[in-house]
Amino acid sequence: MGSEDLKESLRGAVIGRDDADYDEARKLYNGMIDKRPLLIARCADVADVITAVNFGRDNGLLIAIRGGGHNGPGLGSCDDGLVIDLSTMKGVRVDPASGTVRAGPGCTSGDVDHATHAFGLAVPFGIVSTTGVAGLTLGGGTGYLTRKYGLTIDNLLEADVVLADGRFMTASKKENPDLFWALRGGGGNFGVVTSFLFQAHPVKMVFAGPIFWDAKHGQAIMRAYRDFLPSAPEELGVFVGLKTVPSMDPFPREAWGKRTCAIIASYNGTEEDGKKAMAPLLDKLPAPFFNWMGVMPFPAMQGLFDPFFPKGLQWYWKGDFVKDLTDEAIDTYIAESAKAPSELSLVHLYPIDGAVHRVGKGETAWRARDATWSMVIAGIDSNPQQAGALTRWGRAYWEAVHKFNPGGAYVNFMMDDEGEARVKASYGDNYPRLAAIKKKYDPANLFRVNQNIQPAA
Ligand SMILES: Cc1cc2nc3c(=O)[nH]c(=O)nc-3n(C[C@H](O)[C@H](O)[C@H](O)COP(=O)(O)OP(=O)(O)OC[C@H]3O[C@@H](n4cnc5c(N)ncnc54)[C@H](O)[C@@H]3O)c2cc1C
Repeated sequence: MGSEDLKESLRGAVIGRDDADYDEARKLYNGMIDKRPLLIARCADVADVITAVNFGRDNGLLIAIRGGGHNGPGLGSCDDGLVIDLSTMKGVRVDPASGTVRAGPGCTSGDVDHATHAFGLAVPFGIVSTTGVAGLTLGGGTGYLTRKYGLTIDNLLEADVVLADGRFMTASKKENPDLFWALRGGGGNFGVVTSFLFQAHPVKMVFAGPIFWDAKHGQAIMRAYRDFLPSAPEELGVFVGLKTVPSMDPFPREAWGKRTCAIIASYNGTEEDGKKAMAPLLDKLPAPFFNWMGVMPFPAMQGLFDPFFPKGLQWYWKGDFVKDLTDEAIDTYIAESAKAPSELSLVHLYPIDGAVHRVGKGETAWRARDATWSMVIAGIDSNPQQAGALTRWGRAYWEAVHKFNPGGAYVNFMMDDEGEARVKASYGDNYPRLAAIKKKYDPANLFRVNQNIQPAA
């Protein structure tokens, strides 16, 4: 079958290098990544996905799977290969009786939040609404609802998958449980997921928003936050960040460009209860630049950062799982953050305690069930000439703080320069089982444009 046959067989468009929309179609969220695939198969349905997988495999093409296209190193695309682009497969169906939601693999978290909000429901996704549900879920998924309801994968009930040999399978705790286990954290290694079924939870209005302090208080804030977290109610999703106040509205002009330590929180409940939940932390701290916590619909909080992070910025990512945040580590984070090469560059520590710890290390592929935070260092700027500086800062920062951490990181916070040992460290004891399942479902490693799990020997 040639590319003309593929075009005729698919309901969706097949975009090649000579097509007028090729450059737009190949663009990724991270402007630092510039990949030139041979073909982009914009699948319209499962039949298209089966045809595209078979076409790629039979023609010996490198295959990338694209959901939201947000991945840091651009693992939703590849050079000189076939991109299976799922971005138009956006169907969402909420079942209010069971409180579940079925989502297509092209959905962003904003698409699903929009659909579930009408029913007073939400699934734990990430903190930027343009992120793809597919890549986020398969890597694990952390966000404001994680402390109470777990990782995104802890709320995954079922997934439909097109395997490397073109077969279609449903994976759940009852059907093909080994595949279901591997999908929950193992990334895009096992097949193309064409549908996700999630358990949603009651979430409607939240008391939420950012609080920014002058960075000179960073040590006091980070220590207070660390000590506060274990006793904070799980309805409170709350993370700490070291960043710079953006020089733009709506931020107060007198704070523009100043280094800041920020607490960003979302309380799933009333304003009164939210204030009570935050009080033990805030009572100990000095006056902030501003405190913008207020009552808002949950999807508004989920999209709060979207305007600051449009598609096409330069991003360099690095992360670690963090178990303990010692005073010495806090001082190192603050010192390294002061060297940030741009206003947008940031470090966030997302809590993965509470419900995440109630799932056993071996119950899903995601193993870091005893870590307290998933930390991310992101060098970000709009200027492509800053790419080198962002990368150097991210690497040097990580070198300075890594010694405090147990090893391994959230695979969705890694570039493609980490090496096999880091991927193995992230899965720890679960890696051999993942490798065995990879061998069963994808023995030739057809799906290798990802944080790759090698099929067992
Ligand atoms: C601004 C921003 C904010 C973020 N915030 C968070 C956050 O709060 N919490 C969090 O957990 N993560 C967060 N992330 C990280 C995010 O989870 C990853 O970037 C993730 O890879 C995005 O998924 P995607 O579908 O958009 O990616 P894509 O680039 O489309 O794909 C990424 C990877 O997933 C695989 N994949 C995608 N779709 C499928 C599919 N249907 N079947 C099989 N494999 C597939 C691909 O093989 C590829 O390796 C954020 C990222 C960005 C850029």
